[in-house]
Amino acid sequence: MTHVVIIGAGMAGLPCAIRAADAGAQVTLVEAADDVGGKLPRSSGQISAAGTRLQAEKRIVDSPDDHFTDVMRICHETADPDIVRLAVDHAAATVDWLQDIGVPFPPDHPMISYNHDVYRARRYQWPVEKGRSILAALRPLLDAHVRAGRIDLRLKTAMTAIERNAGGAVTAITVRGPGDDDTSLRADAFVLTCGGYTNDPALFRELTPDKPVFAARLPISSGKALRVVQGAGLQVDGGDHYMGMLGGVLMDPDDPLSVTFALNTVPQDRPPWEIWVNTSGERFTREDHPSATHREHAVNAQDNLTFFIVFDEGIRQNAPPITGTKEAALKQLIEANPSTMQGDTIAELAQKMDVAADRLANTIDHYNQVVAMGHDIAFGRESLPRAIDTPPYYAIQSVAFAMPSPAGVAVDADLHALDTEGRAVPNLYAAGEFIGNTRVMGNAYVSGMGVGPTVTFGRLLGERLGPS
Ligand SMILES: Cc1cc2nc3c(=O)[nH]c(=O)nc-3n(C[C@H](O)[C@H](O)[C@H](O)COP(=O)(O)OP(=O)(O)OC[C@H]3O[C@@H](n4cnc5c(N)ncnc54)[C@H](O)[C@@H]3O)c2cc1C
Repeated sequence: MTHVVIIGAGMAGLPCAIRAADAGAQVTLVEAADDVGGKLPRSSGQISAAGTRLQAEKRIVDSPDDHFTDVMRICHETADPDIVRLAVDHAAATVDWLQDIGVPFPPDHPMISYNHDVYRARRYQWPVEKGRSILAALRPLLDAHVRAGRIDLRLKTAMTAIERNAGGAVTAITVRGPGDDDTSLRADAFVLTCGGYTNDPALFRELTPDKPVFAARLPISSGKALRVVQGAGLQVDGGDHYMGMLGGVLMDPDDPLSVTFALNTVPQDRPPWEIWVNTSGERFTREDHPSATHREHAVNAQDNLTFFIVFDEGIRQNAPPITGTKEAALKQLIEANPSTMQGDTIAELAQKMDVAADRLANTIDHYNQVVAMGHDIAFGRESLPRAIDTPPYYAIQSVAFAMPSPAGVAVDADLHALDTEGRAVPNLYAAGEFIGNTRVMGNAYVSGMGVGPTVTFGRLLGERLGPS
């Protein structure tokens, strides 16, 4: 009987363990936290897939080839084509499988979304209760395998070392359990599904030297496992394609790991009333540019990945909420958020933003002329609802932030981990965020290409490694 050791029981590790056990393998599933699930309870669970039953029911014509072309177009060919190919070729089977195990999708899905650059077909869906629906469907399957003895689940147990022989193959993985006892796990195959590293700013800087990390504090994304694979001579890369996501606000301006995803910057959902100003006090992009990738690249080119969303009392009173959660009012964000600044004059606001007062005054004055003329010659903005001329004036400091981790273990098209010489390690595989988000999305955010490939690669590895 095949014995598979899987490290990390999150969005990739759970399907891997379940499908390997379904196929007859003996599985040891190791999880550092005190429960399984990883990011599933938090994630939006958005998945893109072409050729699903959900599409067929709605007579949507689509193909993995079109999905592949769209992904590579959106990321300007910066993702790994072999890995994208593997993901899109097996994505439909993943969505069908999720349906089969009871994950519910809303009746109007798949759909088009403008949060990221738009696909040319309706191939984007997420479960009714987002990632929680996926976890709710996986948990009973896991429990059944645990009860039957096919999965040996070890919670509060973390991988601490990987041992390899002279030929490069893994001979054992050392894990440390709740009583600080070390165990050496041996198996036919080992799968690393240990998630991200955004909670380790030093590692983030090492892997993406020129960019600061802003992220939500997430202990499961500790980065410890990535340090273990570095120590075992495996290749870790992809950080150079890092692109921070828009809409982030620091709840504590002094804490880079205090990001909340607070702002709706999607012009198709909410045409902007405010202007975006960089730390030099100047506008730098068309705030309502229809391409999310264009806006993301513009923000990511700014100093310290930081910009200000500037408005006045007139906009505060009349604009729809800018908060990401639509039920929360802009007013609440302003009052509750320490990243929001207010001034009775533009000079006072500029002082709080730490930008030159005359520069900010010029920027606002110029924008007000644009509103009066109805033409934005410099940037081409079309949403010009009103001038910024009614005190008090406001600025929300926003940062581009890391939601998934950009870098990860390099893998080949069979998801074998690669060593620093680029050689496949024969019995070691990796999947999910642990292979780095930029491998599947390049330097852009591509709809559903986090969750989709994560579940798909976990499922595929389980199905391929499971049979004896
Ligand atoms: C709020 C939020 C919303 C998101 N929305 C989307 C979305 O809509 N679409 C999309 O495509 N992507 C989305 N993502 C990203 C996506 O959720 C992640 O890429 C995906 O969940 C990663 O799954 P994973 O299995 O690789 O990692 P995880 O689910 O994080 O699982 C990794 C597991 O490994 C464990 N672990 C870590 N180190 C060790 C160790 N040394 N030993 C043992 N266990 C260890 C961790 O405790 C964790 O349980 C979102 C992420 C967040 C946070």
